[in-house]
Amino acid sequence: MMPLPALDSQRRATLGRALNLALDKRRQSVAQFPDWEAMRQRAHDIRAGAVERLDEYLDQFERAATANGIRVVRVATAEEACRYVAAIAKRLGVTTAVKAKSMVTEEIHLNHALEAEGIRAMETDLGEYIAQLCGQPPFHLTAPIVHLSRDEVGRILADKLGVPFTNDPTRLTLIARDVMRREFLTARLGISGANFCVAESGSLMLVTNEGNGRMCTTLPAKDGPRVHVAITGIEKVVPTLKDAAHLLRLLARSGSGMRLTAYTTLINGPRKRAGGDESTGPDEVHVLLLDNGRRSMLRDPHLREALYCIRCGACSNVCPVYHRAGGHAYQSVYNGPIGSVWSPALWNTERAATLPFASSLCGACADICPVKIDIHHALLWQRKLAADRGRVPLWQRLAWRAWRIGMSWPALYRFGSAAARKLVGPAVLNRLAKPWTATRDLPPLAAKTFRELWKEHPAE
Ligand code: SF4
Repeated sequence: MMPLPALDSQRRATLGRALNLALDKRRQSVAQFPDWEAMRQRAHDIRAGAVERLDEYLDQFERAATANGIRVVRVATAEEACRYVAAIAKRLGVTTAVKAKSMVTEEIHLNHALEAEGIRAMETDLGEYIAQLCGQPPFHLTAPIVHLSRDEVGRILADKLGVPFTNDPTRLTLIARDVMRREFLTARLGISGANFCVAESGSLMLVTNEGNGRMCTTLPAKDGPRVHVAITGIEKVVPTLKDAAHLLRLLARSGSGMRLTAYTTLINGPRKRAGGDESTGPDEVHVLLLDNGRRSMLRDPHLREALYCIRCGACSNVCPVYHRAGGHAYQSVYNGPIGSVWSPALWNTERAATLPFASSLCGACADICPVKIDIHHALLWQRKLAADRGRVPLWQRLAWRAWRIGMSWPALYRFGSAAARKLVGPAVLNRLAKPWTATRDLPPLAAKTFRELWKEHPAE
């Protein structure tokens, strides 16, 4: 398995406090719904229905959105999507674009692609903005800098923006707001993702907590972006507004315990020139529906469910491995348990193939998931695919084969475990368990085996 860089104890404590707070708030929020399980089941059914009939709903969305004046484009790869956005930026002659939080744009490395063309994409979600300032990828699906303390954020802003140090959250927010306002009012290109694409109405639904999504997409005509490009995965389509509303009820509650995110924006098209609202919004709206490996997940019945994900981040909040290792250890934009299912599906690389093994398979992720994705079984399936593709090292395969033989023959197991206890002392075990033991103490061997204890205390 890929060695996961360890978090130091202070950062782990900061992370643990933040994740546990989110879990506590979620518990309180969910407790208000005696029918929470039924709500989860309905959310699961909505997502299952949408994914099972994906092409039908994508066509419906495209027809409705096009009738609303939106340009809908299907893109197969990350490169295609980046090229499309860069071409728009060049047509507009812009060197800066403002960008609302979007995991899909992280997935396709849009910022780097635009940078190569001389275009700066400025993150406007506060957490993403700070992550961008210090050159880090997001640490968590919904909380990009959950691992940083406010002192650290204060130092980053002081260092990068040349402002006096403060660790007061309100003042930190106002400093970032000042910078962003100027950019919002002058940028001519706004980029976002979409939480849901509503097939029946051709609408995009965006949820944010800071209003930056609206600033990137819907400012008055004299200010702000004239062109809005939304880039989203094909799986984000839902049949109806009612379905989207139901998923919204679970999304923020599951991730942070909030009843709703502070802003929910429905975008139905560009600014209307005659009749309707003539004052706000861009002149053009483009929606890129991205595949980039999603159809291969769709074809695999063991992975299809992973497409139901609404990116609430709850599975990371509850995952013991995520608590211990943190988001950057996954070295993938999609981290945490669901990220370990998605990453090998999108990127068939050696590194991504190791991620499904970074799980205890405790199943806490599946228990908390608001759309009831069977995450740990999908992880198991990804492990099988990794083994089938020869991505498991030879020594591991041999070790598991030996283990299987030992477990199939009770006498061999008894002999082997007794011999190992006699021959392998703590010093040898410590050597064998490196690098795990570099930062931890190996617990001493129990004085008696389970079998010995069982004999002494037979079941009553
Ligand atoms: S898999 Fe479930 S819990 Fe995890 S982010 Fe997606 S919707 Fe949330």
